[in-house]
Amino acid sequence: MTFRDLNLKKPLWNALDDLAYETPTTIQAVGFNVMMSGKDTIGIAQTGTGKTMAYLLPCLCMWQFSKEPHPQIMIIVPTRELVAQVVREVEKLTTYMNVVVCGVYGGTNMNTQAKTVLQGIDVLVGTPGRILDLAINGTLQLKNIKKVVIDEVDETLSLGFRPQLLHIFDFLPAKRQHMVFSATLSEEVSLFLEDYLITPVRVEAARVGLPIEKIDQTAYRVPNFLSKVILLQHLMEQTEANSKIIVFVSSRSLADLLFEAIEPIFSDAIGIIHSNKAQNFRFDTVQNFQSGAIRILIATDLIARGIDVTDVTHVINFDIPESPENYMHRIGRTGRADKNGIAITFVSEKDEAALIAIQELMQRQLSFTELSEAIEFTDEILEFEKPKIIIPGKNIKLSQREKKGDSFHDKKVKNKKVNVRYNHKKAMQDKYGKPKKKR
Ligand code: AMP
Repeated sequence: MTFRDLNLKKPLWNALDDLAYETPTTIQAVGFNVMMSGKDTIGIAQTGTGKTMAYLLPCLCMWQFSKEPHPQIMIIVPTRELVAQVVREVEKLTTYMNVVVCGVYGGTNMNTQAKTVLQGIDVLVGTPGRILDLAINGTLQLKNIKKVVIDEVDETLSLGFRPQLLHIFDFLPAKRQHMVFSATLSEEVSLFLEDYLITPVRVEAARVGLPIEKIDQTAYRVPNFLSKVILLQHLMEQTEANSKIIVFVSSRSLADLLFEAIEPIFSDAIGIIHSNKAQNFRFDTVQNFQSGAIRILIATDLIARGIDVTDVTHVINFDIPESPENYMHRIGRTGRADKNGIAITFVSEKDEAALIAIQELMQRQLSFTELSEAIEFTDEILEFEKPKIIIPGKNIKLSQREKKGDSFHDKKVKNKKVNVRYNHKKAMQDKYGKPKKKR
């Protein structure tokens, strides 16, 4: 099957020719006629399946020229990076069409975006909050919307955008077609869709090239932050100069901390992205990573999904992700487009439950790699790693010694020696099972 077998219009065929795309992916081929029929559609597809073009092709095919300045197609996505990416895809497909596309997202000046919107647009791509703000202040008229795409609806809902989505719906005409895409159909997503879609048809992307088949996955047991830094540095030094590595970290503050720790070593080769960074900085960083200007990107889960960066050779999970689905999304950044990838996960003692959940979801075990003799971990823990007892209203820190259990990883013999002060009370307790006083 080729794109010529889909009942597209000439300008779209020409654009696809320029892109040298010949064969539709499964979701593009299966979804096309369903969406062209005007029915509400639920697409189950992850990034990398060609899902963006799967909804753009029918939307643009059904688009009709209008003198009205208000958009007919609205594409809602969860992150600003995805807005930029989808806008680029629309631009690529509309080289031979007279379609004006506009991306709107928070974190930047609303007036600039408002001006563009007022000049007249056909396709609107945006994050829910900014679309709503522009609709509420009257800049954006949504009364002509015929196609509503919600891409990555699972992520949009889990980021808490449900109220904004519902509010946006209030501005839409009753007669409209929904095309909703989601990587997973969680209960939250299903309930949401049940309420707003009318007898939707479900289409699924082929599970070809499922990441786990193309990704060499391995894990290391690492006890603490500083040891993770040591291992990360070691692993990066082993990688080839042209490798592209994303290092996922669980929080913005940890991402900053890690960046500070390794930036002196890899200086020009390293970048960082998270939601606290300014928007231009975020775009530049992704762009520099895409172009190869930087080869190591420290990131939070902000870019675990959706973002399509080519040729990522390694994904390193500096922290294990909280949900097993996010593990799949993260490692899915590598091993794309028929290339093999490497995913490395650092597992600490507190991560056991998360590890089990990931293994259950994948239906396979993560194999652990033995540490090389060259690596020496440290017992030193940072302030944020110190165990805390939470008493309502109070926050008491335990000393490091009280909480330290057995060594977590297998240390080399020379590292096994620890200077432990003799504790008479504990020795008596160990011996007699109850505290004994010194006589
Ligand atoms: P997506 O799943 O939408 O994030 O797309 C992943 C990548 O595949 C993007 O870079 C698309 O431009 C590319 N792509 C989409 N459809 C095709 C196709 N039929 N043939 C080749 N590449 C495609």
